[in-house]
Formats: sequence, C-alpha cells, structure tokens
Amino acid sequence: VQARAVLPWLTWWLVMGGTLVGAAWLCGGEPITPRVLGIATLVNSAGIALLEQLLGRVPGTNLLRDRQSWNDMIHGVLMSQVGRPLGTAGAAWLLAGASGLAGGPLPWPSQAPFAVQFALVLLIWSFADYWVHRAQHTFSFLWWFHALHHDTAQMHLLKSGRFHIVDPILTYPLKAGFLLLFAPPAEAVLWLGVWQVADGNLAHCNLDQRFRSAWHWVLPTVQNHYLHHAAERRLQDSNYSGEFPLWDVVFGTYHHPDRHPVARTGLEGDPIPRDLWGQLAYPFRALRASRAAPR
Ligand SMILES: [Zn+2]
Ligand SMILES: [Zn+2]
Repeated sequence: VQARAVLPWLTWWLVMGGTLVGAAWLCGGEPITPRVLGIATLVNSAGIALLEQLLGRVPGTNLLRDRQSWNDMIHGVLMSQVGRPLGTAGAAWLLAGASGLAGGPLPWPSQAPFAVQFALVLLIWSFADYWVHRAQHTFSFLWWFHALHHDTAQMHLLKSGRFHIVDPILTYPLKAGFLLLFAPPAEAVLWLGVWQVADGNLAHCNLDQRFRSAWHWVLPTVQNHYLHHAAERRLQDSNYSGEFPLWDVVFGTYHHPDRHPVARTGLEGDPIPRDLWGQLAYPFRALRASRAAPR
C-alpha cells in the first residue's frame, strides 16, 4: 500500500532517468548508434506497457481493452517506418537548397560540453515543434491530417504513435529542417531521439505519474499533454509543446492542468471512422468535401 502511494511521485524520474542511463550504458563509452536508439525504444515501450498494468492512472483505460489498439500500432509503424523517414528526407532536400542560398549552416558551439549542445538541440527542436504543432491546430488542411492523433477516447502508451502516415511528411521538413539549419552533431540528434521516445511515451501513457503543482510549468508532464488531448476545443488548442512547456508559457498558450480539469479526451462529435482505411482516407475526404463546399 505504501509503495502504491509513493511510486507515482517517482515514475517520471525513474523511467526518464532509467531510459537515458540505460541508453548510455548500452553505448559503453562509444557514440550512440541508431541500434542503441532502437533497443532503448523497445525496452522503454515494453517497460511502460507493463507498468501501466500495475500502476494505472485513469480508471477504465487499458490498451488491452481498447479496440483501437491494433490501429494505433499500425499507424505507429507506418508513421515511424515510412512517414518520418520520408519527412526527414524532405527536410534534408529542403536544406540542401537552403544552405546553397545561405552559404553554409548557422553557427554552432561545437566546443561546448555535450550537455550544453544537447540542451540546445532540445531547445531548437521544441521551438520548431511548438510552431508547427500550433499551425496544425490553426489551418484546416494540416488539422485534417493531425486529427487522427486527437482521436483518443482513451489515453495510453500506443497513442504516442497514433499519427497519420502523412502527418510527419508535412511536418518534418519544417521541424527537422529548422534543426538541421544549425547542423548540430549527429550524436546530439540521436540523443534527442532517445529523449523523445521516453518523453512521448510518458506523456501519452496511462502510468500513474504525480507532480507537485509547480512542476507542470517546467516539465513535459502527462497532465499537460492529457489536457492537449481534451475534447474541449479551448483546451485542445493549448499546451502544444511536445517537450518542455516553455514555449507555451512564452507564447501564451499554456493551461495549467490543476486549473483546467479535462472532462473527456478525444474529438467532439467523433468525426474519424473506426476502421483503418477510413482513418487513412479521412483527411483526403475532408479536403475534397471542403473543395466541394468552400466556407
Ligand atoms: Zn495536437
Ligand atoms: Zn499527443
């Protein structure tokens, strides 16, 4: 009983710290490789899936009983294995054109300690991520592709991969492209990958994680992102940061989860079909419908 009371206050720190330390251990003093990133992803996801069963956060939520779990997994594979590589290739292509115009990358403190360079990568990425995500909530064309990620009546581990395959093809050229403008070391970008897996899984999962109220202003807490998945539009259009809430606070789109309770997650009116093909086709149908009946 006592462990059940104390553990939720430690879960974020233990999973985040454990993933980073575990990945560093796998590296064994060598630079990190995509293989280490892959192993860290699998171990982190399996660990969180197991912990969700032991320390659930929201009653009635369980990936084993969610009928969308198979679709979540298929979207996750399509997004990460097809959409994201294509989006990153698009970023590199854009960049080749841009650096031809600008005459090389922007300045980068390559002599600074690695921790400083990594923090800078996080800061630059989260800035681009914030504005691209905000644009996805602002322009209908982008929203139709992003809506699938918000079609989440339940929030659990698998929702962190529930993105339309086209979503990263639209967003990565901008997000990754902005980061690559600075030409940061590949090492720091791979560590960003490790951070994002752990951070994304923790933000979506149904693992009980508690924080003192003030921490929500600083950390990528599950409550901050749960609020972003609220069905209520006012809340949905806030807390855009995938990483630290810094940019939401700076640009005035932050809502503190303690002051804004979430009645239900998902989308008002449930516009997204339940079947995989319908989900993949949804943005294109919405686009066609909007052409037929312009607003
Ligand atoms: Zn969103
Ligand atoms: Zn999300």
